[in-house]
Amino acid sequence: MNTPKPSWPLKLLISSSLVLTGTAVVPFSLSSTGLDTGRVEAASTYTTTANLNLRKSASTSGTILLTIPSGRSVTYLGTYGSWYKVSYGGQTGYVSAQYVKVSTSSTMTTTSTKTYTTTVNLNLRKSASPTGTILLTIPSGRNVTYLGTYGSWYKVSYGGQTGYVSAQYVKVSTSTTTTTAKTYVTTVNLNLRKSASSTGTILLTIPSGRSVTYLGTYGSWYKVSYGGQTGYVSSQYLKASTTTTNTSTGSGRTIVIDAGHGGYDPGAVYGSVQEKVLTLDIAKRLASTLSGTYNYNVRMTRSTDTYLSLANRVSLTKSYNGSAFVSLHANSSTNASYHGHEVLVPTTESYTTNPYVSASRNLGASINRELGARIPTIRNRGVKYQNVYVVGKNSVPSTLVEYGFMTNQNDRAHLTSTTYRQRMAEATASGIHQFMRSTY
Ligand SMILES: [Zn+2]
Repeated sequence: MNTPKPSWPLKLLISSSLVLTGTAVVPFSLSSTGLDTGRVEAASTYTTTANLNLRKSASTSGTILLTIPSGRSVTYLGTYGSWYKVSYGGQTGYVSAQYVKVSTSSTMTTTSTKTYTTTVNLNLRKSASPTGTILLTIPSGRNVTYLGTYGSWYKVSYGGQTGYVSAQYVKVSTSTTTTTAKTYVTTVNLNLRKSASSTGTILLTIPSGRSVTYLGTYGSWYKVSYGGQTGYVSSQYLKASTTTTNTSTGSGRTIVIDAGHGGYDPGAVYGSVQEKVLTLDIAKRLASTLSGTYNYNVRMTRSTDTYLSLANRVSLTKSYNGSAFVSLHANSSTNASYHGHEVLVPTTESYTTNPYVSASRNLGASINRELGARIPTIRNRGVKYQNVYVVGKNSVPSTLVEYGFMTNQNDRAHLTSTTYRQRMAEATASGIHQFMRSTY
């Protein structure tokens, strides 16, 4: 989208500017001594776009080790909030991520989703500290998804929750396949509740004999997803699914990916950066992840720089017999302080003719959750109800993703980075897959 949205509530604008006045968004304070980790990641190279201070810690008040001249190559070692850990001239330190760009000469190695297996019953904590609040205990032998390294802690996701585990109690998963969802079958008509308690609000009643996806154990309750909703069921009324169907693959189902704009319609433009180019690049990465990692059939409304009307995009979805539709965009505003990613889902107003309002919202929420978890350096503006043609007029679960504001410096640094566009694609693919797995 490239139109300002004057209908935004004032409250939102205020909070948006408040966030900007703060310093870098770092999940917690990092000491320079706590960062020596065994994280193995292919080195990639960035080029400085300004004379840039290399600092001892990831903060604008960190001691300056040296100033790197503009145009020099630095080796990327990790991301900490809006800072990159890099090495340059034999020294290792932190630079502001917004003043470096991916070196055009370097061959980028993209790290695919890394999976670890717990070696003990392991606490998932809210923060990277042994005193952090325990979110849940992950049983030994379970796979967790690696999201990042923070000192001697890994940020991981497990059972629909994101938190920190001590790195010493996980090992690299030996299986190279994606985590297979565990499925249980209900043995009675079973209430799905909002909390793990017999007094928890009932979300819906799952008929006997239905498959639910296991997400975690909470005492005598299982957290499961069913019919697009996530909640808790009493574990005694479930039995392990005997079918050997691999629910982690999407074979047979088609996802329609819509790269926004194209041809004579560039979408938003900022200097030499064009929205239509960014969206097509993310779309291609998303298509390859969805088919390569998750085994979906993927159709793109456009795979070249061509113009398509909005009606055309909707009718293509129908002719492709898609199970879900995702339109990719980058935002822009006359106010450079507006920043963040968001997903747009249908309203319940008469504008909406899409029969899948609730499913579209679940699809959008799933993608938004993954983007928030995997790219914490972009603000999460959340899920917005909005009348958008390709979403409201479509005939399958549909959502539109705005990956960030091209007119905002921090967002633009992400959008113009191949590393981050790959991460955006992988987060979107994971969100789509989680939606598909829980709904179909
Ligand atoms: Zn757009």
